[in-house]
Amino acid sequence: MLDNLTQRLSGVIKNLRGQARLTESNIQDALREVRMALLEADVALPVVKDFIAQVKEAALGQEVIGNLNPGQAFIGVVHRELTKLMGEHNDALNLATTPPAVILMAGLQGAGKTTTSGKLAKLLREQQKKKVLLVSCDVYRPAAIEQLRTLAQQLEIDFFASDISQKPQDIALAAHDYAKKHYHDVLIVDTAGRLAIDAAMMEEIKQLNAALKPIETLFVVDAMTGQDAVNTAKAFGEALPLTGVILTKLDGDARGGAALSVRQITGKPIKFIGVSEKPNGLEAFHPERMASRVLGMGDVLSLLEEAQRGVDMAEAQKLAKKVQSGKGFDLNDFKMQIVQMRKMGGMSALMDKLPAQLSQAAAGAQVDDKQINRIEGIINSMTPLERSKPELIKASRKRRIAMGAGVQVMHVNQLLNQFEQSQKMMKMFSKGGMGKLMRGMAG
Ligand code: GDP
Repeated sequence: MLDNLTQRLSGVIKNLRGQARLTESNIQDALREVRMALLEADVALPVVKDFIAQVKEAALGQEVIGNLNPGQAFIGVVHRELTKLMGEHNDALNLATTPPAVILMAGLQGAGKTTTSGKLAKLLREQQKKKVLLVSCDVYRPAAIEQLRTLAQQLEIDFFASDISQKPQDIALAAHDYAKKHYHDVLIVDTAGRLAIDAAMMEEIKQLNAALKPIETLFVVDAMTGQDAVNTAKAFGEALPLTGVILTKLDGDARGGAALSVRQITGKPIKFIGVSEKPNGLEAFHPERMASRVLGMGDVLSLLEEAQRGVDMAEAQKLAKKVQSGKGFDLNDFKMQIVQMRKMGGMSALMDKLPAQLSQAAAGAQVDDKQINRIEGIINSMTPLERSKPELIKASRKRRIAMGAGVQVMHVNQLLNQFEQSQKMMKMFSKGGMGKLMRGMAG
């Protein structure tokens, strides 16, 4: 996602290398490049203008740059400003009300409302142990109600049946009553969309909103529609008291315009992003992490969080600590990472989140899912001592391990090299995380 922007911006940083400090004249070129990159990414013009002015001011004020080179100092400024642009912190859902907390989903047809309603229900159940009820108020397309019903069934989420002879408002209020009686914590209301903004649709959702008084009114929008996404968000924001935005299909969005401008233009926080068609393809939106992704620094924090979701928490925290400190990370941990990797959808799903350089390296090394199986096999045929002290593994042990795993000694060597590489990577992320990583990038 957002690959084009990432590529352009890393080019800018390379060009700033070798300059002694940030001055008006040398950042001029860099700023021009950033401006071009953002416009190409389909970021709204007023947003680009403001952003460039902010970066310029912050970069010139950046006198004390310690041992960072200008490229690194500049990327630091851009990272901070990007984070600010997207809202600084994650804005979580507010569900603090007398249950059921109502979430109203608004948006155009095809934006991903129905899919996202299902994903959100699943996420709330799994991460917050909420009892969720789903209902569709789309009385114009019978297929829409059916779609939500099937999804609810598949995810084992409670579903309130409705049919097209009813009024949307009556359906919603009946579902609300039902949720109250059956002790649901959350009611997610999927609504009808149109292909474009139209007055009747706006009127209907306004009335639904007034009748339901949802604690969250979320605007669901397809990131791939770029500036159009931002414009529709603005129109919906003027008609409804939106509490947040969900940006879907970010996985298909190479440009990133909507992700970067929606907050600034609408004043509404992006609360979640859709990153795949699958039911678990919804993530909380973290501006800082997104800024890191955009700058090709990868999204190490999200990775850790996902890893933690997949495994035993105590183990995951231990691992996260080891990863952060770069100390005590052994082949047992390496194996655990591999198991988690599989839980997170395999290597290809991970690539997107690794810093650009690493994912290129991984692609170059052709680490694919088949290879991961082999690695796991090799680690399994090591003794616990060998796993915790890989330096013990000399020729005869290598032969024994290779035999046990049914591979060649060459494969054992490959694994040990890979492990050493990943240890180096851990060290790069250790203490000061980003700072070191930046140094690594520009070094
Ligand atoms: P609705 O008309 O707003 O209810 O939209 P749907 O929920 O039916 O979604 C329209 C299409 O977008 C479906 O094919 C979804 O699978 C797809 N979709 C929704 N969210 C995402 C996402 O985050 N990533 C991808 N790749 N596809 C998505």
